[in-house]
Amino acid sequence: MIRYALACDNGHTFESWFQNSAAYDKQVKRGLIGCPACGSTKVEKALMTPGLSGTRKRGTRAPVPAHDAPAPTPETPAAVSEAPSPVAMMSPQEREFRKKLKELREHLTKNADYVGPKFPEEARKMHYGEIEHRSIYGEASPQDAKDLHEEGIEFHPLPVLPDERN
Ligand SMILES: [Zn+2]
Repeated sequence: MIRYALACDNGHTFESWFQNSAAYDKQVKRGLIGCPACGSTKVEKALMTPGLSGTRKRGTRAPVPAHDAPAPTPETPAAVSEAPSPVAMMSPQEREFRKKLKELREHLTKNADYVGPKFPEEARKMHYGEIEHRSIYGEASPQDAKDLHEEGIEFHPLPVLPDERN
């Protein structure tokens, strides 16, 4: 078994166990690995370096041990600064849900307009009534996604179909 640190396209990091690296490749390609935080199947291996979590800037409040603090006990793990990641066990219901997501994606991509990187722009125009509402899909960077959320614009990560990755 191998444990991989993974990251989704929304910058969430989590860990998962795999039989071997081939099993990991296969599961990612089939979209079987989903982010436990947002459900995105755009997942890739991540470096679990403390502080490196996507593009999001957190405040500089890294815990710095005070000089006069009592010495840590010998059994303190070395990686204390690593923040815990959200993890999940996949139940049959979740697998079914994932299948539904794929169906939803197929439906969406058949019936919605692909606007590519213009997604944030188009979503805003619709939100502010500049153009008529319709179903669209495209790409948004984590920063775009954050901005759109802050403006109260509702949208969802689109599940990735396995044949789109290789
Ligand atoms: Zn995520």
